Amino acid sequence: MAVETIDLLKAPPEGRGPLMDAFRRPITYLRISVTDRCNLRCVYCMPESGLPWIPKREILTYEEIVRIVEGAASVGVRSIRLTGGEPLIRRDLSALVAQLAAIAGIDDIALSTNGLLLEEQICGLAASGLRRVNVSLDTLREDRFSAIARRPGLSRVLGGIDAAIAAGLSPVKLNCVVMRNQNDDELDAFAELTRDRPLYVRFIELMPVEENVALQRDAYVSADEMLERIGKNGKLLPVTGPGGNGPARYYAFAGAAGAVGVISPLSHDYCERCNRVRLSADGRLRLCLFGDHAIDVRTPTRAGASREEIAAIFRGAMVIKPERHHLVLGETASAMRAFSEIGG
Ligand code: SAM
Ligand code: SF4
Repeated sequence: MAVETIDLLKAPPEGRGPLMDAFRRPITYLRISVTDRCNLRCVYCMPESGLPWIPKREILTYEEIVRIVEGAASVGVRSIRLTGGEPLIRRDLSALVAQLAAIAGIDDIALSTNGLLLEEQICGLAASGLRRVNVSLDTLREDRFSAIARRPGLSRVLGGIDAAIAAGLSPVKLNCVVMRNQNDDELDAFAELTRDRPLYVRFIELMPVEENVALQRDAYVSADEMLERIGKNGKLLPVTGPGGNGPARYYAFAGAAGAVGVISPLSHDYCERCNRVRLSADGRLRLCLFGDHAIDVRTPTRAGASREEIAAIFRGAMVIKPERHHLVLGETASAMRAFSEIGG
């Protein structure tokens, strides 16, 4: 699917007040991909050989990201999530976190990571203002980890999760993409992690991206099936989630410190509550994870656009934010990969 780029600066729309799209959804949440590169090769996300990476000169600098977020914050964006690719491979991410935390109006900074580099970076990140983290983990078995992520590292990820809890981040969420015959027999083992520790495990439906359509068709497990299976012992009860911007529905063991949740990106109730837009590593503003429109924010930012002009780009983008995605089970969504994350 070709991604169309629209130049909104040519016709900046009028408007006042916080961002609201054409369907009266307040937009307060910006997900920022700081790199498209990654130190893992998860089978559902990217080919083993990697992707045609974005040239370094096209990647937004920290200074550019900060200027864009200043514009977004001036029209009501309050929460930021840093994601990727793998955000922790970008040099000195703490420096970016500190600069974002200092922007007036930004009151929540979160991170989505595969956890490999988390233990060594968590203290600096927390000291800079990181409050919440989502760690992706699809299995608790090293042999499976190497098969799914195509690189070893389970013990490092587990160390990163421990370090995040010890550093006081809250909530710490685990994202687990459930795949039939690959890790779907670990639902109970993941649920058990939530009994004694403040962990929120979210089981995510496998989504189709370019190279994984066959895998997706074979391995897809619906959120309803996950719920039925984890509910089999009758001990998990519906609970309110840990807050944040997520689309998950949560369940917990009585008296548990954490909870398990399911995320069904293919379901449209996710769209009805959508409060987010995405900024790609090369500075395109995406209005929908699966949408086909992007707005080039990098070019005006590099040309010296003021905070008000950047704010006008965000405001104009509201006009083309679609009501819902049109993703269908077993069909490709080429746009998804670069903009990362459903639960992330
Ligand atoms: N590298 C980081 C990580 O793995 O958390 C951040 C980026 S990653 C693309 C964000 C999230 O998207 C991860 O939780 C990952 O499991 C999820 N994801 C990637 N491809 C997916 C797919 N085809 N279906 C469902 N979730 C997917
Ligand atoms: Fe990397 Fe995250 Fe994609 Fe896995 S899901 S390959 S860790 S970007």
